[in-house]
Amino acid sequence: MKTVDGFRDSKTGKGRFERLYICFAGVKQGFLTGCRQFIGVDGTFLKGLVGGVLLAAVGVDANNGIFPIAYAAAEGESKDSWCWFFKLLKEDLKIKKDYEWTIMSDKQKGLIEAYDMIFPNATHKFCVKHLHNNFSSAGFKGEVNIEQTCSCRKWELIGIPCPHAIAALWMAKKDPLLYVSKWYTVETYMKCYEGSVCPMNGESEWGLTNVGEGPLPPLYGRAPGRPKKLRRRSAE
Ligand SMILES: [Zn+2]
Repeated sequence: MKTVDGFRDSKTGKGRFERLYICFAGVKQGFLTGCRQFIGVDGTFLKGLVGGVLLAAVGVDANNGIFPIAYAAAEGESKDSWCWFFKLLKEDLKIKKDYEWTIMSDKQKGLIEAYDMIFPNATHKFCVKHLHNNFSSAGFKGEVNIEQTCSCRKWELIGIPCPHAIAALWMAKKDPLLYVSKWYTVETYMKCYEGSVCPMNGESEWGLTNVGEGPLPPLYGRAPGRPKKLRRRSAE
């Protein structure tokens, strides 16, 4: 948890809540042992009393399912808040060689700036769906090498033999299943979910943080009560 820098309430001496970052050890372990070096990030508004945003980082498991890694509550999506989130994430996942990683996000300005500062050498993707759509096997006249490459590039890209490769492997009397990347195996999938997050019985088991007791609620710029402007649905 982070409190607002230098803020102390004159009466109570309490700090004020600014941000909260959460990454469970069991989840982190699963991500690091069972997921590819890929992180997707996004932010969304929190609709509670105090507003703010939820920042989230997810991975992809062996079954191509979404694997949550870490999340945070912050005042908004900005270069500053994303930098803070990325720094913690980088430290938590012990990312030293950022060039080995791929990060996917939308094209939000602050996010891209933060990304360039914290993960300057990682590959940044905006959407992988388009990559998949770019492949068409119709009229394929390419070249397949059973050392895991095909000129359609799909095999190298996703780690699963493309139809051309499968045909070539059968011709060479090889089992295509043995040429699927380890990231898709049941063993890898099991590793993703090996770690556990133990529930706690209640407040008595909560550890103490270094920010003192009970900081004041955040001031995220939303006044208490009714929002000033109500969004109207456009007539369609
Ligand atoms: Zn191919």
